[in-house]
Amino acid sequence: MIIVGSSNARVGLPLGMAVLRRGGSALDAVEAAIRAVESNPDDHTVGLGGLPNLLGVVELDASIMDGRTRAAGAVAAVRGFEHPISIARRVMEELPHAFLVGEGAERFARECGFPPAELLTPEAQAIYQRGIRGEGTGEVRYGEAILRAMASRLAMQPERASGRDAGTVNVIALDGEGHLASGVSTSGFAWKYPGRVGDSAVIGAGNYCDDRYGAAACTGRGEIAIRAATAHTVVEHLSRGDSPEEAGRKAMEALNELADPFFSAMNVVVLAPDGRHAAFSSLTAATYAVMDERSPEVREIPRTFVPVRADGAGRA
Ligand code: ASP
Repeated sequence: MIIVGSSNARVGLPLGMAVLRRGGSALDAVEAAIRAVESNPDDHTVGLGGLPNLLGVVELDASIMDGRTRAAGAVAAVRGFEHPISIARRVMEELPHAFLVGEGAERFARECGFPPAELLTPEAQAIYQRGIRGEGTGEVRYGEAILRAMASRLAMQPERASGRDAGTVNVIALDGEGHLASGVSTSGFAWKYPGRVGDSAVIGAGNYCDDRYGAAACTGRGEIAIRAATAHTVVEHLSRGDSPEEAGRKAMEALNELADPFFSAMNVVVLAPDGRHAAFSSLTAATYAVMDERSPEVREIPRTFVPVRADGAGRA
C-alpha cells in the first residue's frame, strides 16, 4: 500500500494512508487525501482559498479515476462548492456520464446534498486584487503571462502579478487489494479567462489510471498537458514495459515538440501497480510527497528534473 502526490498533498496523505491501513479502497484514500487539501485555506491553488479567475470568481476543476475499471468522473468550472473531488466521484458513480461542467455540475452537487461554500478568502482576494492592480512583488510562478494576456483583452494595465498563482493537488493510491486510483483538484490558473478548463479535469491529460499498467497525474501548464495527453502518454509507455522513470521522462521530453508561448512548467507523478513511483518536473528542486504502509510520516522526495523548452524547437 502506498500513496503519492504533489508536494502540497502532504497535508492529506496521512488521511489517505489511514484509509488504506483500515483496508479501505484506493478511491476512498485518494478522495480523503484531496478533500483535506481542498479544505486548506493556506493553499491558494485548490478549493477553499483558491485564487479566482479574471473576474474574481473561484472556479474549480477536479477529476477522479478508478484503475480497476477505468471509470472516471470529472467536473470543471464549478463555483461555490468546497469539494469538487467528491462531486467528480459522484458523477462517476451515479450518472451515466463522465464529465459535468459549470451550472450542470453545480446543480448535480446541490442534488447530492453538498453544502454551498464561499471559497474566496480575504487573503486570496487580496492576491487577486494586487495582481489586477499590478502591485504585487511576491513569488511569481506561472500566472504573470496569463494575467498579461487576459489584461490585453480587457484593456487593463497590470505590471506584475503576485503570489503563487498556479498549482494543483494530485494523489495516486495503491490499496491492499492491488487496485489503483488517481485524483486531481485545482482552482486552475489565477486570472484565467472565465470558463477556462485545465488538464486537471480532463481524463488523459492531467489524470489517468489503469490497474494493469499504472497511473499518472500532472500539474503545471494545463494547456500543454491537454494538447499532449500527458497522463495517458505516461501510462501508454508503462503499458509497453517502460519503468515509471522511463515512462515519465519520455512523456516530459515529448513536450519539447510543442510550441507554447505561455509554457510555465510541467510536473508529473507516476505510480506503478507494483508500488514503484517516480516524479518529474521541468523546474529544478521540485519535490513530491510519498507515504507507504511502513512510513510513520510523509516523505518529501526530489523530482527528476527534465528540462522542457516547449518553444517548438524540438520539432522535426
Ligand atoms: N494544471 C493546472 C491547470 O492548468 C494548474 C497547475 O497545476 O499549476 O489548471
